[in-house]
Amino acid sequence: MPELPEVETTRRGVEPHIQDHHISRIVVRDKRLRWPIPDELPQWAQDQRVLSVTRRSKYLLIHLDRGTLIIHLGMSGNLRVLMDDPTPTKHDHVDIELDNGTRLRFNDPRRFGAFLYTEKPLAEHELLKHLGPEPLTEDFTSDYLFLRTRKRKTKIKTLIMDAKIVVGVGNIYANEALFMSGIYPHKLAGKITKAQAQRLVECIKAVLAAAIEQGGTTLKDFVGGDGKPGYFAQSLNVYGRAGLPCLKCETIIKEMRTNNRSTCYCRQCQPNR
Ligand SMILES: [Zn+2]
Repeated sequence: MPELPEVETTRRGVEPHIQDHHISRIVVRDKRLRWPIPDELPQWAQDQRVLSVTRRSKYLLIHLDRGTLIIHLGMSGNLRVLMDDPTPTKHDHVDIELDNGTRLRFNDPRRFGAFLYTEKPLAEHELLKHLGPEPLTEDFTSDYLFLRTRKRKTKIKTLIMDAKIVVGVGNIYANEALFMSGIYPHKLAGKITKAQAQRLVECIKAVLAAAIEQGGTTLKDFVGGDGKPGYFAQSLNVYGRAGLPCLKCETIIKEMRTNNRSTCYCRQCQPNR
């Protein structure tokens, strides 16, 4: 599933090819995504200029003169920049054609993605208004996280994966950040110390930044015929390593379930205290 780093890498890969160009046409081949693509969307967006491409959580926001295209890659989606017009395949649901001949092709086999348009202020949009801060901005501080953990009886791992607390911390990144910060994943959030909150915020930022940096090396994959952007193989230190020795202390890594998701941890490096 595309996570925040993949979406950010997509944003960086796409923006230079479409910025300052006008949309000449949008072709919708299959509108049945998570929410149906509005029939009028192509005409709403047509002839508008692309001002910029930004990201909020895992939403790509293509800012136009009058409104914004809101794109989500769902479970299996990707966007490709095409310089020509290769025959669309089965899951190529939408093309955005630009006046420079570039084409942005949205592919989503499982159709959990979204392709929407709004002219309302984005901060008030139903999909965006309840989101917590971006993890890589100055809004996500240890003071903020510490405050949000107070009196919370939920597990710390569950808390940091809650988009109302902070966006973009998917299961793999939560595993990695908790391992890096030496915190037991099922520790109750309300019991986290100030020092632990600080360490955890630093590690969440570090893990996500490293993944984005790693993704940068795959940027070239965004352009070209069939080349789909690679959802990068990350170097993982704890996730998927159950039964293997801890990379820090060689204790065997344990696995447990957290809200039905896999949690790998080291009893030695992540004691419950
Ligand atoms: Zn260890």
